[in-house]
Amino acid sequence: MAVEQGLVLIKPDGVVKQISGDVMNRLADTGLHLVGAKMVQVSQELAHAHYHHLKDKAFFKELIDYIMGKLHQRPVFALVYEGESACERLRKAIGATNPEEAEPTSIRGKYGRITSKGVFENVVHASENPKEAEREIKLWFAPQDLIHAMYPTEEKSVEQKVKVWRN
Ligand code: UDP
Ligand code: MG
Repeated sequence: MAVEQGLVLIKPDGVVKQISGDVMNRLADTGLHLVGAKMVQVSQELAHAHYHHLKDKAFFKELIDYIMGKLHQRPVFALVYEGESACERLRKAIGATNPEEAEPTSIRGKYGRITSKGVFENVVHASENPKEAEREIKLWFAPQDLIHAMYPTEEKSVEQKVKVWRN
């Protein structure tokens, strides 16, 4: 079995419900290692890039509003886990996409709900496979935000204004 990475997002409904601690405890039971974590105020650009494969779905606009925190006024807590068969193990721990169909003891089964607009507020995202994980991790994290660079990197000179603390 190969070592893989998987992106987990605690979505704004999970953040507003203050269940990040329990989600992380449950994910710790997978035995995977946490190699990156940050709170993200999700831009429209990031939301569209993350869910680009669902752009033709009827629920796409609501899904974008949901992941951007427009329904809960909260950011996303983005996590990267690493270990053997990481994607499969994370997906098992979170449960099925539809919270009504998810194992009651899974994260989505325990905490998810379906809104009256039909959106699955299912608390967490986890990468479906290693290829998707690589695409997603590169969207959400820069190499220096992770404890090690799991994908090839290159040095690049960039001239940009960055925000620093005022003295
Ligand atoms: N989703 C939804 N209704 C659906 C299918 C998906 O609201 O019928 C939302 C749900 O929040 C889900 C996200 O869209 O987590 C991404 O869908 P995907 O099929 O990739 O499911 P996942 O990989 O998150 O289990
Ligand atoms: Mg998916």
